[in-house]
Amino acid sequence: MAEQGIGTKCVQGGYTPGNGEPRQIPIVQSTTFKYASSADMGKLFDLEASGYFYTRLQNPTNDYVAAKLAQLEGGSAAMLTSSGQAASFYSVFNIASCGDHVVSSSTIYGGTYNLFAVTMKRMGIDFTFVSPDCTEEELDAAFRPNTKAVFGETIANPALTVLDIEKFARAAHAHGVPLIIDNTFATPVLCRPFEWGADIVTHSTTKYMDGHGAAVGGCIVDSGKFDWTAHADKFPGLCTPDESYHGVTYTERFGLAGAFITKATAQLMRDFGSIQSPQNAFLLNLGLESLHVRMKRHSENGLAVAQFLSGHPQVSWVNYAGLPGDKYHALAEKYLPDGACGVVSFGVKGGRAAAEAFMGRLKVAAIETHVADARTCCLHPASATHRQMNDDELRAAGVSPDLVRYSCGLEDAADLIADLDQALA
Ligand SMILES: *Cc1c(COP(=O)(O)O)cnc(C)c1O
Repeated sequence: MAEQGIGTKCVQGGYTPGNGEPRQIPIVQSTTFKYASSADMGKLFDLEASGYFYTRLQNPTNDYVAAKLAQLEGGSAAMLTSSGQAASFYSVFNIASCGDHVVSSSTIYGGTYNLFAVTMKRMGIDFTFVSPDCTEEELDAAFRPNTKAVFGETIANPALTVLDIEKFARAAHAHGVPLIIDNTFATPVLCRPFEWGADIVTHSTTKYMDGHGAAVGGCIVDSGKFDWTAHADKFPGLCTPDESYHGVTYTERFGLAGAFITKATAQLMRDFGSIQSPQNAFLLNLGLESLHVRMKRHSENGLAVAQFLSGHPQVSWVNYAGLPGDKYHALAEKYLPDGACGVVSFGVKGGRAAAEAFMGRLKVAAIETHVADARTCCLHPASATHRQMNDDELRAAGVSPDLVRYSCGLEDAADLIADLDQALA
């Protein structure tokens, strides 16, 4: 059968019930699984047989949903995590240790920036941040002999820069390391980074994938294409025996298709335990069933709102890659031909005070720190998440005092525009 379309994968991927089995994926709400003999269970612990024994390591509900995510991204294996933060941490820590170095785009989610620049630095991993717009030479110069990975976001939250994935993949591969892409804002419906050379993809499934503001979660998908063994000296954790797991060498036992995710599960999930609950995996799957329909609508609303704002006299600037004339429009045409998601940022004339007053008048859009939800939500960082900073500190952090982040939901675009219009007036 021909490769199925993204919509069919959203609806049916990952789980095929047999005769008389439940049509919807079962929620296996059990911490543990029963076996007839200790020998049966021993084989599971030795990774010699596959099966379930403890939900911290694997659970059938989570595995159905992970299989769907692997199909959506076109990857070889996937795992769910308790949050997007856990996914970002595992994706890097699975291949970088104390004394190693990682190159990252500077326009990444604030939580990821803090994880890398502060918390993982305390673990002895150094990060060099480069502008997503850097030249190939500048990117090349950021690498060191101990560099183990490159990291970036397809559409950055909240900067809304679009990453030139091919440029970053070329640089990573020239230095023998994988490119990890946080694909949260694009989702595999709008962009599949593996098709452009990325090797590993992460998501905060809390955002569009769940899409209903119901469950915090994350995932990691491996393309299975990066050849760890060709750079075995850089990746001893994947290419030499793991003494903490019965001396298994992940690349030998599980091949390139399975090594990365098996190691992340057997080591990191075992030790850190950031599992997604089966209940949340079930909710995530409900969200995924309509992801292709919702992303189209989110993107249509995003474009309509961006067009309206860019023509409004009370608006000083608009960032939306789907808008002709946006700095990232050419990259969006290449990497995001089916839409640029629902998140728009813009400046209200009159600065911090005017933006705060505008926010107070909105009736359809709700003030929240959330984004990428069915309900339109918006945030004025200067009066909320960043309120302790003065205007100069804000600008240094790349957040102007007048900036409003507006995440278009699934409502009628005409209602969003009417709401914006009366609040700007
Ligand atoms: C929200 C977000 C994260 C963190 O995800 P959580 O699920 O909140 O832990 C990571 N990356 C991006 C792009 C995000 O928007």
